[in-house]
Amino acid sequence: MELKDFGKTLVFMPDATRGAVRALTTQQLKDTGTEAIVTNTLHLLMSLGEEKIKKLGGIKKLMNWDGIVLTDSGGFQVFSLIHSGKWKGVVHDNGATFKSPTTGKLYELTPESSIDMQMAINSDILVTLDDCRKSDLSRKDAEESVERTIAWAKRCKKHFDEVYGGTEKTGKLLSCVVQGAKFLDLRERCAKELSSIGFDGYNFGGFVVTEKGDLVLDEMRSVIENTPTDKFKYAMGVGKPSDIRVVSKLGYKVFDTVLVTRNARHGSLFSSDIKDEVLRIKNAEFALDERPIDSLCDCYTCKNYSRAYIHHLFRVGEMTGVTLATIHNLRYYQRLIEGLNQN
Ligand SMILES: [Zn+2]
Repeated sequence: MELKDFGKTLVFMPDATRGAVRALTTQQLKDTGTEAIVTNTLHLLMSLGEEKIKKLGGIKKLMNWDGIVLTDSGGFQVFSLIHSGKWKGVVHDNGATFKSPTTGKLYELTPESSIDMQMAINSDILVTLDDCRKSDLSRKDAEESVERTIAWAKRCKKHFDEVYGGTEKTGKLLSCVVQGAKFLDLRERCAKELSSIGFDGYNFGGFVVTEKGDLVLDEMRSVIENTPTDKFKYAMGVGKPSDIRVVSKLGYKVFDTVLVTRNARHGSLFSSDIKDEVLRIKNAEFALDERPIDSLCDCYTCKNYSRAYIHHLFRVGEMTGVTLATIHNLRYYQRLIEGLNQN
């Protein structure tokens, strides 16, 4: 997939949080049909640091990855760690100031520094810093979050254009995040304001499911209806296969979720042979099961190994089990996306 075609058809991006899709080599990643990945700006900032990653030529060179890389702004992690009290720091009109819990080093995350870090990572698609908050927002909090999100998006765009020459000079795309929580008029306002600034993509920000686990479809629809039709729409953090099927119908084309890798690590494997699509490989019932994880899957794992073997690997804690499980789960998602693209 070329960058100019990103988001024209459905695309699923696994999380390469610290510069790797956990347990996979880059070749194994490619073999699942993956064409784009998401990597995490904050984690790379705290581990490698801006100077080192720049010196090493950016994440694509480091990973030997010739596909597409999207970086987040770093805001989501920082704000949630500060809001939850896990990290010491403050969120303010200029971004956030926080201390690394391991080294004690002080960091300043601003709209401009977020763009600088993403440029150092040398990703293909950047995301503007947005003011994301907890799930149940008051009207006043949501209004504040929307105003800040718009102001920060403007600053990100200005910095990207003036310092780096924007999309034209860098060949990179800049996307923004639409906030507004459950207030549809705020969603609309945020979407319209961001559209008037002009971005290459529009990402749905905030929580995608209610506390009961239902998708926030009205909020999602409002973002689609109030942003340009010819730019990609990214449903950040969506989600379960059944959720992707629903949300893709609204017009969202870009998806990512930690479920693929996290479930694989815990032995929860996606399978169309199972009613709720999740096969718990550690269960005793699979100890002698010689069938593949999914009878329809064409992945390396399903073509070569039985449920019994993977069950055994998980039972004894053999790392290869996680690798085989991740290959399968990721291929399951890519097949889901391929199927939806064909319909
Ligand atoms: Zn498979």
